[in-house]
Amino acid sequence: MATFECDHCGKCCRSFGAFIKIERKISDRDFYCRYGITNELFPVHVSPEYADVFSSSLPADAIPDACPFLRNDREGKGYACTCYPTRPSQCRDFRCYHMIIRTAGGEICGKVKGRADLKTSDDNLAKLWKEEVEPIPREDPAAWMRAVIPLLAAHGYHAEPVE
Ligand code: SF4
Ligand code: SF4
Repeated sequence: MATFECDHCGKCCRSFGAFIKIERKISDRDFYCRYGITNELFPVHVSPEYADVFSSSLPADAIPDACPFLRNDREGKGYACTCYPTRPSQCRDFRCYHMIIRTAGGEICGKVKGRADLKTSDDNLAKLWKEEVEPIPREDPAAWMRAVIPLLAAHGYHAEPVE
């Protein structure tokens, strides 16, 4: 099992505003929010290091569907969750990919998202995926994983599920 690592691209948070709503403001940095899918109410505390950026700017790039706690990071290169230590369990549990694929040398060359959506810049892997992996039935995720891992290994790739 590989460990999931979030690279803070902010893609998921840019659409989470549809689910995370501020219900009550307690102070400039303390809120009660509701998660729309489960109706769960949870407290959120804006981290001290983001107090200024949180109060002085709109959700990242003023994206209409962004989570209300997402802001552009200080370097302007990516995004920052301004309440990371108190983010809701849905954010803690979210995994945007469920498998990583490495070359024989150990370099990460692919990530699998959704049901079986491969993101890679390795042309050989992309071709192999299209010709041999895509036809494998996906109804049973565990059976799919058991079929795909040895298939990729036979071509020199090491695939690992992500926990
Ligand atoms: S969970 Fe995935 S999509 Fe969301 S910020 Fe992290 S890397 Fe990006
Ligand atoms: S609470 Fe943080 S991690 Fe969760 S969607 Fe909002 S910005 Fe992203």
